Amino acid sequence: MKSTDVTSASGPTRANHASRANRVMAGAVWLLLAALPLLPVPEFWITQANYIGMFALVVLGLVLLTGVAGLTSFGQAAFVGLGAYATALLSTRYGLSPWLGLVAGLLLTLGVALVLGWITLRMSGHYLPLATIAWALSLNYTIANLDLLGKYDGILGVPALQFFGISLADGRAMYYLIWLCAVLGAVAVRHLLDSRPGRAIRALGGATVMAEAMGVSTFRYKVIVFLIAALLASVSGWLFAHVQRTVNPSPFGLRMGIEYLFMTVVGGVSSVWGAFVGAGVFKVIEDQLKELLPRLLGSNGNFEIIVLGVVLVLMLKYAPKGLWPAVQLLAARRWPQAGRRRDWQGAAALPSRPRPPRGEPLLRVDRLRKQFGGLVAVNDVSFTLHAGDIMGLIGPNGAGKSTTFNLISGVLPASGGTIELGGTPVAGWPSRRIARLGLSRTFQHVKMIPDMTVLENVALGGYLRGRSGTLKAMLRLDREEERRLLAEAARQLQRIGMQDHLDELAGNLALGPQRLMEIARALCSDPSLLLLDEPAAGLRLKEKQALADVLRQLRQEGLSILLVEHDMDFVMGLTDRIVVMEFGTRLIEGTPAEVQASPAVRAAYLGTEH
Ligand code: ADP
Ligand code: MG
Repeated sequence: MKSTDVTSASGPTRANHASRANRVMAGAVWLLLAALPLLPVPEFWITQANYIGMFALVVLGLVLLTGVAGLTSFGQAAFVGLGAYATALLSTRYGLSPWLGLVAGLLLTLGVALVLGWITLRMSGHYLPLATIAWALSLNYTIANLDLLGKYDGILGVPALQFFGISLADGRAMYYLIWLCAVLGAVAVRHLLDSRPGRAIRALGGATVMAEAMGVSTFRYKVIVFLIAALLASVSGWLFAHVQRTVNPSPFGLRMGIEYLFMTVVGGVSSVWGAFVGAGVFKVIEDQLKELLPRLLGSNGNFEIIVLGVVLVLMLKYAPKGLWPAVQLLAARRWPQAGRRRDWQGAAALPSRPRPPRGEPLLRVDRLRKQFGGLVAVNDVSFTLHAGDIMGLIGPNGAGKSTTFNLISGVLPASGGTIELGGTPVAGWPSRRIARLGLSRTFQHVKMIPDMTVLENVALGGYLRGRSGTLKAMLRLDREEERRLLAEAARQLQRIGMQDHLDELAGNLALGPQRLMEIARALCSDPSLLLLDEPAAGLRLKEKQALADVLRQLRQEGLSILLVEHDMDFVMGLTDRIVVMEFGTRLIEGTPAEVQASPAVRAAYLGTEH
């Protein structure tokens, strides 16, 4: 196979121009960053830049936690406090090296965040943000009332950092350390988001049911992003303590927690470089206003908070995704981007599972039952699907077909009955565990991550076929496996006729292609049993025929398929056996010919009494 080479439609010349312009600009920014302390700029600028770097570290965590994973935290300042107090206490009272203080702060933060995360991350909706407010207040209150920590006065005389004998007491020296931490943090977060665990994390914001069905433990990833965010905040606190040379409780309170969230939203809640923009804009505005407002208004007070509120409202109206994405959008208009070039030529194929022997019972459903309150959606339904068969599950709307799918795949718990997959009883298992046995599925209402590319969405289907974890991804040690995963995703997309859409955002696809993408995603897991809920809905005739051909080919390869579909031509021409459901019960099971000849089925579809 030739390597897949994706370029945008706007032509290579303009795109090359664009990437050169981008590179030149990025290079200029890096150079300025690196040279800033060497230039004859006022000390104040350096101080500002240092604060921006330290804020950005915290905001980076919030980008992951709130922007990407959808978990709002008002409490990040408390973790900054843990990092700051740990090093302040150890270095002043016990005379330990601040570098040990860093390690101690990280360990302390890890412990506290694990406990807090374990308790609060199971909460949903508004309870989580409320819980973060609660522990932010109580951690701050605890710090402020411990004699050991100097109560409200805090700890004075925190030493400056030493780096191999070089003192970092000077702001210009600290600048390099702070920005090294911040940039390394940003790069690690970017690497993480573009990886196997990153795709799972990006599903946390609104596609958890789908991710679980692909084998992802979403709770585990919530804990992981919570820990990463807390640790980034803790590093920021460590730096802060050695910049300020004193710590007290006030910078680690709820107000600062809210301001970190403000910076995140302003910069672009889910964009990594937005963290720096948000922190920068916040710091500059806040300082200017602190000077300006009392002069204008003739009295002192925290007026800047009002102005920041107004800025936030304006932003949500005119650049709801944040400043950085708005800038990116403008830049993309001016200089159209070249599509990403990917080269997975020579990537080894992923391991695949052995197929169950043809004709063996693969899925055995016995007296399966589901009640929603008084409604019996699935009423003691039994059937057996044999390996290598395509089985249709048909029936009028509301018959209980999708619910049956949800029970078999573990998306919903059954109220009764048994499900055996390859001889293993799986009723009561979570969907991610059932997925490990080789079951994959699509959803009647497409479930995807709209702001991720088609290729990435499909690669999430291959989650269980990879191993690389969070740390490996952050350190970019996962590239070989990533190439294999993406190559497999591309292969499945190609097979389903979607090779021209790899780099499109999934949310921009029409409904038909979205369904095809879901099938490719399910195939990417190398399933033994594939559950398709209305795969042909929204497809044109030609596309339906192509899909039927693909499904036949899959059957040829030993895959078993259970399929819900309303298009009778599609079902009758494709399936080996059919189960008909009505009002939650199984009406009949038989070959397509038998089902077509059944008076009961006709009655069910025409709605007449029988
Ligand atoms: P089908 O896929 O055959 O059209 P469904 O399985 O979606 O039917 O639905 C079967 C019945 O169960 C319908 O009456 C539907 O309203 C009900 N139902 C499905 N899911 C739920 C739910 N989560 N809560 C309550 N009722 C539900
Ligand atoms: Mg349905």
